This record gives sequence, structure tokens and C-alpha cells, in this order.
Amino acid sequence: MKTRTRVTWSNVISKHEVEPFKYLIPESLRDIAAAVQDAEDCNHRIRAVGSGHSYSDVAITDGHLVDMSRLNRQLNLDKSKLLPKHQEKYLVEVEAGITVQTLNRQLDRQKLALINMGAIDEQTISGAIATGTHGSGRNEPAMSGMVRSLVIVAAEGKIYRIEPSEGFTDPAQHTDAAVELIQDDDTFYSIVVSLGCTGIVYSYIIEVRPRYWLYENRRPEKWSEVRQKLADGSMFNDYPITINGQSVKYPVRSLFIVVNPYEKDGDHTCMVARTFEVEKFHFRTLRDRTRNILATVVSNIPLAYRISLFVVNNLPKIVPSALERSVTALKDATYVNKSHKVLFQGFEYVASQGHGAEFAYNRHETRYLEVMDKIFSKVKQLSGKYKLYPSSAPTLRFVKASPMYLTPEYNTDVCYIGNPVLVRQKGAALILNEYQDIHLDAGGKPHWGKITNRLEGRTELIRQW
Ligand SMILES: Cc1cc2nc3c(=O)[nH]c(=O)nc-3n(C[C@H](O)[C@H](O)[C@H](O)COP(=O)(O)OP(=O)(O)OC[C@H]3O[C@@H](n4cnc5c(N)ncnc54)[C@H](O)[C@@H]3O)c2cc1C
Repeated sequence: MKTRTRVTWSNVISKHEVEPFKYLIPESLRDIAAAVQDAEDCNHRIRAVGSGHSYSDVAITDGHLVDMSRLNRQLNLDKSKLLPKHQEKYLVEVEAGITVQTLNRQLDRQKLALINMGAIDEQTISGAIATGTHGSGRNEPAMSGMVRSLVIVAAEGKIYRIEPSEGFTDPAQHTDAAVELIQDDDTFYSIVVSLGCTGIVYSYIIEVRPRYWLYENRRPEKWSEVRQKLADGSMFNDYPITINGQSVKYPVRSLFIVVNPYEKDGDHTCMVARTFEVEKFHFRTLRDRTRNILATVVSNIPLAYRISLFVVNNLPKIVPSALERSVTALKDATYVNKSHKVLFQGFEYVASQGHGAEFAYNRHETRYLEVMDKIFSKVKQLSGKYKLYPSSAPTLRFVKASPMYLTPEYNTDVCYIGNPVLVRQKGAALILNEYQDIHLDAGGKPHWGKITNRLEGRTELIRQW
């Protein structure tokens, strides 16, 4: 195992930085166990880190830091060790440091695919799962919902395989004396999403599915109409898409809504991206194969980011109309591709220069729509009174209820409201504080990987969750 000292690690937006006593790069499960024992011998804490894509301080340690990048392989899963009812499922076992991008490529080669994922793929699977990373889907889980079993190294370097009470591994087939098998709901549902606080995960068994194809349609709509359809539930009704020149109504798999928070003609413009599961197209036109080319190119070049930042910091009054144009520029009638390519929302460069808060609400109640109203009023106040023009459009995504205790969607189908802001916008911290306060007042639950500084000192609230 490589060990380095005097290393400075920082997250991808360079907001959080740490100088650990030791920076360790394990190459095996035994290396992790040795690293934990060594930290304990020194009376230091130890924590794992993935790709550093969390905006919050969840990866920071005052002791030793474990870099998971070398633990990035798919393992040979011996299905004969599982209970018979699980042997027929599509399952893979992977080391925790594999990135979502590499995993997608490997699954694709095996004609398999992830059930769901977030909007980017640079994260490690462990980082994404540990913070509750989600995409959108009417009935789709967050990434943590795909975990069936995991191997974790905890105190004293002890190794455990943790699973739900109903079991996954057949206890009679569990012969590895070095790994203790725990099949217990409380333990499993506490550990899967636990921000690296319960130990260092070495590997996961995740449920996947055969390769599938998605059709994405993005069109601008008026918020007043979308709001009404979300309130009465009809937004999830079957929706017409064009297949082989024919208009056919299809079930909506997911909604991803981006709303300009600035008013235009008494309403707000939103871009609604709907996805549908379709059969593989035998022939795809160039339009089917590609996303809106202009939006993709512009959002992937550093120059576009610099121009946005210049405008936001020096010509803030044009932010509302610039946002209006960028929201509508995302429109795209059809994009049809393998699931992971459609679920990946791109915008690489610009996205990595943004950060934000994200909070979740029961999607069967209308409270989240009232929160959107409050966000619009806040944006009006900030821009009118303080000349602080929030630089990005709020987003809405939907996630199925989960049994994992610390996820915002614990036991409840949710709508996540995201509030991104450019990292180097003047006043970004003030704007994010205001957004968080709206969410905390409204009883929203936070995404742990996003900005959560307003939770500091609110131990009772966190304990309730
Ligand atoms: C551009 C961008 C787009 C994003 N899009 C989305 C999105 O669409 N949906 C969404 O929900 N989130 C999104 N996020 C947030 C991101 O998915 C999460 O913050 C995720 O945790 C990042 O993964 P990571 O590998 O970088 O983990 P890190 O940030 O490095 O670590 C996250 C946490 O995981 C823990 N951890 C990592 N590895 C292990 C391990 N082996 N064992 C135990 N604990 C471990 C760490 O200790 C830490 O607490 C986005 C972030 C960025 C920067």
C-alpha cells in the first residue's frame, strides 16, 4: 500500500481542504484493515475518500485519509454462495473505488446497465452511495437502493459482510472466517448511506439489469402549468412521443425540471426533460443520436464558464435574461441512447464550477411547490434589494422511497429541489445560506454531499433524521 505524508487533499471545487497525517492508497481488503489498525495505534481517526465530488465537508478527516482509487475492479461474484432466491438476479460485485463511468463501461460490455445514476459519472460508486446520490425517476431508487450486500472494515480492522435481515448470502455457504456475516436490517440500513462514518467499504454487491434504452425529450413549458400538473399528479401521466414517425403515448420514467427563478411576463420558464424506456431503435437519425449540439458544446468549454462568471459578477442585471436563454437553449425533441448515456446529463465543465444545496420533500404533498414559490420570492428580493442575482436555475428531480435511514427519501417518495450557484459568483455563500434557510424552515431534508453548512449546530435535527 502506498503511504504518503504532507499531502494536501481538496475536493473538486477546492472549497474543503485537509492535510491528513497519512494519505493511504490501499490495493486490497487487507491493506484497508492494516490502515485502520495503524490509525487506531496512533489514536487517530481514519476516513475514506472517493473522487472528491461532494461540495460539503463529508470527506474531511483530522487523521488519516484513505484514497480508494486503486480499488476499482469488478470482482468474481460466486452466485452459489447466495440464497437460491437471489441467484437468478442480475448482480455484480465491485470494489468500492470504481467510478460510475468505468462501471458503466464494464456493464455495457456485459450487456448490463445500472438501474439508475446521478447526472455525472466521475464519482466513485462508494462516494455516490455513501452520500445518497440520486438521479430522477418516478419509481426509480437512488444509487444506494441498488446495494444488496457490502463488505466493510470497521474498528480494530475487523471485516464484516453486511446484509438485510432477510439475508442475501446463504449463511451455510459463508466460509470465510476472516469476514463476519451480519444480516440485520438496522445495521444494513444504517451503514449503506453513512458518509464514511461507520467504516471503510471495500466492496458492494449491487443489483443491475439487462441493458436498456432511453428516449429523452426536453421542451420549454410554463411553470404555472407544470406546477398545476405536479399538484394534481397529471405530470406523470403517459406522454406522447414520436416513434417511427408515429405519435405514441408512453409511461414517463423520469422528470428533470429546470426553472428560471426570474419572472418573465408574469410566469417562469422551465425546461422539462422527460425520459421513457423504449425498445432499441434499429435506425436512429442524427437528431436521435445527439443531444442539442449547441448546448452540449457551450456547456463543455471553459470559455463559456468564464463568460458566465464575468456576466454574473460584472453585469448582474442581464442574469435573468441570460438564464432565460440558457434554460430554453436546452430544448431537444429526441435523444435516444443506451440508458447510461441518457442518464448522464453532461455539462462537465460548467457543472464542476458550480455547487449548490439540495433538499427533499414528500412528493405526494404540495409543500415542495410552496417552497418553489418562496425561492422565487427570495430571488426577487436578493436581486431587487441587494443586487445579488442568483446565477443558476433551481432543479426538480424525483426519487422513490428508500429503507436507508439517512436518505432524505427514507420511507417517502420525494421531490428533490436543487439550488446550484456558480462557485466564484460574488455573494455565492450568502445566496446558498438563504436557500438553505428556506428549506430548513420548510422541513426539507438535505443531500449530504451538497452544501449543508446551515446545519452546523443543529444536532437535534440531525439526530431525528
Ligand atoms: C458536477 C457534479 C454533479 C453532481 N451531480 C449529482 C447528481 O446528479 N445527483 C446527486 O445526488 N449528487 C450529485 N453530485 C454529488 C455527488 O454525487 C456526491 O457528492 C458524491 O458523494 C460524490 O462522490 P465521490 O466519489 O466524489 O465521493 P467523495 O465526495 O469523495 O466522498 C463522499 C463521501 O463518501 C465517503 N466514502 C467514499 N468512499 C468510501 C468508502 N470506500 N467507504 C466509506 N465511505 C466512503 C466519504 O468519506 C465521504 O463521506 C454531483 C456533484 C458534482 C461535483
